[in-house]
Amino acid sequence: MSRSDRPAALPPGTTIGILGGGQLGRMTVVAASQLGYRCHIFCQSPDEPAAQIAPQTTIAAFTDTGALDSFAANIDVATLEFENIPLSSVEYVEARAPVRPSSRALAVAQDRIKEKDFITAAGIATAPYRAVASRAELTDAVADLGTPAVLKTVRLGYDGKGQIRIDRDTDLDQAWAQSGTDASIGGAILEGFVDFEREISVIAARGIDGAMTSYVPVENRHANHILDTTIVPAPISGELAATATDIARRLAEKLDLVGLLAVEMFVSQDQGILVNEIAPRPHNSGHWTIDACAVSQFEMLVRAVCGLPLGSTERDADATMRNLIGSDVEDWQSYLTDPTAHLHLYGKSDVRPGRKMGHVTWLTPRALP
Ligand code: AMP
Repeated sequence: MSRSDRPAALPPGTTIGILGGGQLGRMTVVAASQLGYRCHIFCQSPDEPAAQIAPQTTIAAFTDTGALDSFAANIDVATLEFENIPLSSVEYVEARAPVRPSSRALAVAQDRIKEKDFITAAGIATAPYRAVASRAELTDAVADLGTPAVLKTVRLGYDGKGQIRIDRDTDLDQAWAQSGTDASIGGAILEGFVDFEREISVIAARGIDGAMTSYVPVENRHANHILDTTIVPAPISGELAATATDIARRLAEKLDLVGLLAVEMFVSQDQGILVNEIAPRPHNSGHWTIDACAVSQFEMLVRAVCGLPLGSTERDADATMRNLIGSDVEDWQSYLTDPTAHLHLYGKSDVRPGRKMGHVTWLTPRALP
């Protein structure tokens, strides 16, 4: 694309609307303000992490069309910071203002069956899976895939919420009842349990002009289904890293995505890669980029949705990021005296088990290459 064909950039001073008020939005507000942009947060409480620091907010339900109207009228572009926003709300804003990434990308990421169908159609492997719309279909799906397997809700699942492991002796009636799955949340999906060697992720960025870049693959370790630690870079072969990077970029391109695409993957014992899920937004496994990279994932999102050059994803250091979950945050002061620790707190006053309260990134000199 020649320079003159490039879509006009939204200059600093314009307003980025963000649907969602969590910590991902908060860190995007910080990055946007560093580049001179204003942010307008649409969320449900003025105390949400991003609403606390944004110059403009709309505090309303996502289904409040009057509030969505005035939000759309007061922004130059919208993005989103979590994927469980009703699709109809995103489409409503999209009819009034540019939304990047688009509702189409969101529709795929919101629905585990659409997501797996999309990844498979792109020629990329996932865990074996079956759609399960009823208790009877669960029996068939377990017979088909065998055990162990994982029963997940199709929608509204994150951090392992709505997931039940199915073993040979699991009572399926009980599992089905426990899954709380019904048609209102789109049914369930049964996935074969992957005996993975490790979990990794790649965050790719794609601009309005189709330019792409990505951060180095990282390893993610979970505790109680919630991300606990990210290790940068992932200790995997160069060949595997190249394959993972290519997968993330291919998926971003196929979605025609503008913004960020985080791709979570399993590395199997035989060094194959299976995609677990995708998220069209900044990702917890990219928080280390704030402290280790010239352009963080949050600034990258701003650059992508505003039509700026994407910039460098090179890291100046290797890193380990650990989430402060629930009462972990009570140790916050200990990190202040650690010279290699970078502490980030999200301004959440209510400490609850499983709640992401902040994170710490430790930097170490970059090992070659
Ligand atoms: P998810 O909500 O799909 O990201 O799942 C949360 C975590 O549960 C993943 O990061 C894995 O650690 C684990 N998990 C999810 N699906 C599977 C699977 N099919 N096989 C093995 N572990 C899984």
